[in-house]
Amino acid sequence: MATTFSLPDYRDLARLIATRTNEDVQRALRAEVLSLNDLAALVSPRADEHLAVMAAKSQTITRQRFGRVVQIYAPLYVSNYCTNRCLYCGFSAEHPIRRRRLTLEEVEKEADTLKNRGVNHLLLVSGEAPKMMGVEYIEQVAERLKDRFASLSIEIQPLTEAEYARVFAAGITSVAVYQETYNPELYQQLHLSGNKADYTYRLATPERAAAAGMREVGIGTLLGLGDWRTEGLVLGLHLSWLRKRFWRTGFTVSFPRIRPAEGGFRALAPVSERDLSQLIFALRIFDHDVGLLLSTREEARYRNGMVGLGPTRYSAGSCTSPGGYAEGEDSDEQFTVDDIRSVAEVCAAIQGQGYDPVRKDWDACFQAL
Ligand code: SF4
Repeated sequence: MATTFSLPDYRDLARLIATRTNEDVQRALRAEVLSLNDLAALVSPRADEHLAVMAAKSQTITRQRFGRVVQIYAPLYVSNYCTNRCLYCGFSAEHPIRRRRLTLEEVEKEADTLKNRGVNHLLLVSGEAPKMMGVEYIEQVAERLKDRFASLSIEIQPLTEAEYARVFAAGITSVAVYQETYNPELYQQLHLSGNKADYTYRLATPERAAAAGMREVGIGTLLGLGDWRTEGLVLGLHLSWLRKRFWRTGFTVSFPRIRPAEGGFRALAPVSERDLSQLIFALRIFDHDVGLLLSTREEARYRNGMVGLGPTRYSAGSCTSPGGYAEGEDSDEQFTVDDIRSVAEVCAAIQGQGYDPVRKDWDACFQAL
């Protein structure tokens, strides 16, 4: 087995998708275990006319594997310092926004505010500025919060395997790291400078996190950069490669679509709600057990409509600037959210559709077993 994930030629994958036929889609919909060709069929233009069948199949699989539950989580932005220049991001080093890293006391205050709103699963987010946000800081944050939250995930700069092992030991349960685009040429055009410009190092990050023993690893692409169909096919390949190699690790996939942010970047390859739905259904049919996240980047109307159809986790009441919860700051955010409902309102909407919003389905004490 290869020691690191390497991607087939991106153009070949795009060609594979373009040549899928109606029969290929139907075969994929009948298959129990899907091949690369099957996933290519489900993300292809030919599958669009089968969207209702895909939705029904995705819903059935999701119900069988996860029941009628949706986990609730919220991001907590601990810092917006960043040394990278990613063209699509409000935190890019070249933007003259106010920079801030929360003190440990401020992190606790933010966390307590979320806890009081009923959030038990926290995603700690920061820009990539290792000197401001070192491993020691993450360890200290984890030590302070781990007894109060069911899980602590991080979405920060990529770490080494040894560093992931350290933060895991301190109480971090999972790591989210998105490739943004799997297209190597486009990746270079969008990441102008900084550590993130290293495509290969980033691509191997989920492996390092899993190898370090993380309970869960989240992957994804930023939808709106490359062609979503090809990105979706590579996501599936990456996911199945990770699953074979790290069978003890849980995996999740996120589907962030580009949102307005400082700098005014516009999607290069816009992804409609219909496209997004097709991608979510395709991945659920391809991998029955993967956790699928739908964030507050999406409108409340769309998120309500997707309950039970594939996604298993919803963020709620999100703010994307450091200090945004306790202090009510709404400036210097990474991007604007679209679903601005409170945690209680999101939970009520999920319940209204006959599903249970689950605020806690894990306890940090299990990690010590
Ligand atoms: S995407 Fe991440 S690394 Fe890039 S500028 Fe934004 S915060 Fe920094």
